[in-house]
Amino acid sequence: MIGIDPGHNGLNYTDPGYLDQQVWNGRAYEDCDTTGTQTSSGYSEAQFNFNVATYLASDLENEGAGVVLTRSSNNGIGPCVDQRAEILNEAQSVVAVDIHADGGPPSGRGFAILLPVADGPNDAVIASSQTFGEDVLSNFSATGMPVSTYDGTGGFSYRDDLAGLNLTTVPKVLIECGNMQNSTDASLLTSTAFQQSAAVALADAITAFVG
Ligand SMILES: [Zn+2]
Repeated sequence: MIGIDPGHNGLNYTDPGYLDQQVWNGRAYEDCDTTGTQTSSGYSEAQFNFNVATYLASDLENEGAGVVLTRSSNNGIGPCVDQRAEILNEAQSVVAVDIHADGGPPSGRGFAILLPVADGPNDAVIASSQTFGEDVLSNFSATGMPVSTYDGTGGFSYRDDLAGLNLTTVPKVLIECGNMQNSTDASLLTSTAFQQSAAVALADAITAFVG
């Protein structure tokens, strides 16, 4: 089983009370989720994430793989970030990816791969997540999106404040596919061709990792 988590959800913005509930992320309490970011023209990150996840699921299923998604539409609210981790853990995914796009500084460009830091629950998958992250890095440049100019170093950013990475018991990375606040990145992120290309790059990385 391959785990796919399209970050946020299309109607999260309608229920601030739901988003504000506090969930344990393995090190601290954090919000259940956020609305996600959007481009200057109002194209939502939740929609981008869901589109890429849908293309990726289709690509993997065409290759004969089973997939589990943390949400099945872009017309709902939730689930919370800790529940997303649990869904992918319980499916005993051989590898998993959290799909996002960033709301970074408007002058900054590019994609970043967020990797877990050992905290107990994820101790057994730190090394394998790094390996998968390297597979993602070597495949994602084929999309035309450059490595981030502002987040992390050489495309990698180590994060200990995200439930999806802190709570994972399966190899996992979170990819910020680009910066929705940057106009050049936004023109890529909102195009169907780029979204399909991002899915192909992630499928290729998954195939490389699974072997
Ligand atoms: Zn996000």
